[in-house]
This record gives sequence, C-alpha cells and structure tokens, in this order.
Amino acid sequence: MRGMVVPKDSLGELVSKLSDRYKIFGPKRKGTEWIFGEVESADEMDLRYSTTILPPRKFFLPTSERLFSFRMDGRVEEPEEPDIPALIFGIHSCDLNALLLLDAVFSSGQFPLPSYVKRRERTALVALTCTEVGDHCFCESMGTGPSPAGGYDVLLTDLEGEYLMESGSRRGDEILALARGREASKGDFDRKAEAIERAKSKFKRRVDLRDIDELFLKNLDNPIWERLGEKDLACGLCVNSCPTCFCFDVRDKLDFPMDSGVRYKEWDACVLLEFSQVALGGNFRRDRSARIRQFIGHNLGWGGASQFREFRGKAKCVGCGRCIRYCPAGIDLTEVLKELRGA
Ligand code: SF4
Ligand code: SF4
Repeated sequence: MRGMVVPKDSLGELVSKLSDRYKIFGPKRKGTEWIFGEVESADEMDLRYSTTILPPRKFFLPTSERLFSFRMDGRVEEPEEPDIPALIFGIHSCDLNALLLLDAVFSSGQFPLPSYVKRRERTALVALTCTEVGDHCFCESMGTGPSPAGGYDVLLTDLEGEYLMESGSRRGDEILALARGREASKGDFDRKAEAIERAKSKFKRRVDLRDIDELFLKNLDNPIWERLGEKDLACGLCVNSCPTCFCFDVRDKLDFPMDSGVRYKEWDACVLLEFSQVALGGNFRRDRSARIRQFIGHNLGWGGASQFREFRGKAKCVGCGRCIRYCPAGIDLTEVLKELRGA
C-alpha cells in the first residue's frame, strides 16, 4: 500500500483535478447539520463534520427509483443507468463499513441488484479517519472505526497541517498520482496511529457486545419494549438515517386510462405500521413495541440468525449514532442495551 503526505492547502488543487474525472460529493453544511451533496471545489466541503443527516447509502439505494415502465401491450422499458464516474469525498469509517455490509446484501449472493453493483463500481471512495468523535458515536465498540481497515480507494488522515493519503486500490493509486506531496515515512504512519489512539480515548459511548444475541433472545418479553413502544412515534427517522437499513417496498403506479404504468421501489421501514401488513389486513407487528424491538434487535441483537453474521460475522449496527441523534422521542439503543444488561 502506498502512502503520501500532502499539505492541507494542496487539497483544493487535488479536488479540482479530480473534478475533471469525477462528479464529486462531499460533506456540506446545511443549517446546523451536514449533508453529502455535490461539490465543485474543496472550499464547499467541511471535513470536520460530525455526521450527515442521510448516510451515503442514498447514492447507491435512492429513496425512490423506477425499476421499469410497462404498457399493457407487453412493452417494458428499463431506465438507463448513467455511467458517470462519481467520487464520495470524506466518507467516515462507520459509513464506509456500512457500505461493505450492504455489499453483502446487494452485490454478492444469488441475486445481486444490478443497479447497486453498477453504482458501487463506478464510485470512488475517499475515506477519512475520524480524529474528533461525536457525542452519539460508538463505532469503536462495533469495530467499525474511528479509522477503516479497508474498503476505500483512498484514506485521508489529518496529521495537523497535512494529510496522510493512503491508497487502497488501483483507482486509489491513480488519485494519489494527482496529489502534490512527499512519500510517507514510518514516522508519518506512527503519527496516524497516535491520532487514532487519541480519537479512541474521546468516545463517550461504548457498548458491551458480549453474548449479545442471547441477551436479546432472552429478553423478547422484557417490559422495556412496551415502555419504548409508548414513547415511539413511528416516524421512521431512525431507519431512514441508518446507513445499513436496506428494506424497500415495490409498488406499481398505473397511468390513466390504465394502459401503462411504472413499477418503482422505495425505502421502507420496520418501525412503520404498514411494513408488516399482509393479506386481509393481518399485521404481525401491529404494536409499536414489537416494531421498535425489531429495529433495535436487528441492529444489535439476534445477529446469529441474521444474514450479516452469516456472511460477515458482524453486527448490522456500525455505531454511527444517527438513530440516537435524530430520534424525536429520545430513544437510544445504547441505553436500551445497558438496561437489558441491568446496568
Ligand atoms: S442502528 Fe443507529 S447507530 Fe447503528 S448504524 Fe443504524 S443509525 Fe447508526
Ligand atoms: S426515530 Fe425514534 S420515534 Fe421515530 S420511529 Fe425511530 S425510534 Fe420511533
């Protein structure tokens, strides 16, 4: 793996060169929060961001998208997938690891999702080691941060005044070749390791994952779920902001006079009433308590039965803290876990 050290003030020049090859998305201020949005220069980005409202999964699994249009005479038209190379700049370690988990669902296995696979292939990822830690973050406990072990094309680490740039792929080598700097020394990698250790000491939240599957399965009838169900607003913000939630619904929309239509897919959420609705109005998770148990349980618990543990040996939650940060009812899965442990 190659490494370079570049002065911070040369980042603008690098982004400008990259913008000739890629459509670039980076963290931008939006009011008091941040979003990933299109940028044309490094000045538009805030690389000291805490977390973005929506995770980068929105680029690979849009909130709503047409699968195909159809006509009653049998003609079917699939949308063209644009082939413009994209680059996400400054992706945090938790969000990068979330994409690696989504890959296990949509890129591998028996039924890969072609649009997802294509978008992943055409998108370069420039990751960022977190040197500051947000109030809601617990990625260290989940083994997904503060610095990623792989999965990036380039990894940037802030060494105060300069960045260590590491390549993780051939595309990363090409990006490094555009940068102006010097070859990284062992001392620079030592500085990176120190920056990571400093970041680790800043976490305010930690979770205890010991025997977590059993803990959740043992507590399916714990009264905590009823209490959370009474607080829960079933608004879906937790699921929509979660970088690893991937459930979607498929619907048909017919055009008048019913001779053509569109089949589209859109994000769905296990915390919503309609999610578990089946034929004849049956609903196997009618109560909010059962739905919030599903959200928290799927992310932190009963992983042994989930496809994530099966494929990757990891929990679904990457510890980004968004579901805590944005929940209007103050529901906090790290506190729920503590309560289940009797702490
Ligand atoms: S469950 Fe919450 S903390 Fe975990 S990855 Fe999803 S949004 Fe982030
Ligand atoms: S964000 Fe909070 S209130 Fe809204 S559905 Fe999720 S847990 Fe319930």
